[in-house]
Amino acid sequence: MTNAPKRDVLVSEVGPRDGLQSIQAIMPLAAKKAWVTAAAAAGVPEIEVGSFVPAHILPQLADTAELVAHALTIAGLSVAVLVPNFKGAQAAVASGAHKLTLPLSVSETHSLRNLRRNHAQMLDEVRQIAALIKSLPAGQRPHFEGSLSTAFGCTLEGVVPEQRVVELAVALMEAGCDEVGLSDTTGYANPAQVKRLIKSIWSAVGRDQLSGIHLHNTRGQGLANVVAALDMGLTTIDASLGGLGGCPFAPGASGNIVTEDLVFMLEAMGLRTGIDLDALFAVREIVSAALPGEPLYGMTPLAGLPLGFVPATTKQHQ
Ligand code: ZN
Repeated sequence: MTNAPKRDVLVSEVGPRDGLQSIQAIMPLAAKKAWVTAAAAAGVPEIEVGSFVPAHILPQLADTAELVAHALTIAGLSVAVLVPNFKGAQAAVASGAHKLTLPLSVSETHSLRNLRRNHAQMLDEVRQIAALIKSLPAGQRPHFEGSLSTAFGCTLEGVVPEQRVVELAVALMEAGCDEVGLSDTTGYANPAQVKRLIKSIWSAVGRDQLSGIHLHNTRGQGLANVVAALDMGLTTIDASLGGLGGCPFAPGASGNIVTEDLVFMLEAMGLRTGIDLDALFAVREIVSAALPGEPLYGMTPLAGLPLGFVPATTKQHQ
């Protein structure tokens, strides 16, 4: 008999990647390891631990390979990384990470600015990565997701046509991704748009090919957008501990949606995450001690759990 909790929703912690890449301070490797260990011990099933980008571009994530090696020692933890291109994917495959996510900006202007590649060039990288993964023995192939970033709007191009998002979802699948993900990089999304886009992508590539969403809370729509995605039937939600990373465009607003508030909402709604909230709140101490002066967001850790609150994950053990 296994003790692994049953989960209705997979919460993927992206703080060590998305959070840390957005702030100036560089978290020491020992603190990153402690964070990953404590989050996994709290029941977080998947952690995006870093990104395989050159250290001169993101010195905050220069130790990604070491952190992957550490995370792989934690039984049951799914270890995810971001890769910007084929070269990054080679390093990611060598590291042994379980999941590779390649961001493809639907806004070509953003793609050129961010990764210096247009869509055709990015899709070439995807094809090379897919071939590399296919060349590995069946049991050693990482899961390969193409993430449609700026899918809900772009700070450079403004409105992003939904048809364009769908076309690129199809192109990513044809180029060899295992699935696509939706990403509101800019915090532009609203719940109606979330539902519409999921529906359109599903009808173009199939329901099993889109299961996750990455949301930012820049305009306070984060959890409302999560509920919209859940209503549609998505099952993987990215979030960042303490909403780490903030948002340069909206002072005082968190960047990614806050893991603690997300887990509280899901558990209160009767959806099991397998995550222990008190243990999760305690992880904040590790992160804040390692990043002095860096604000951590989140309402639930400050307000505390409601009197008499029983999380859905606990109920299953009773
Ligand atoms: Zn993000």
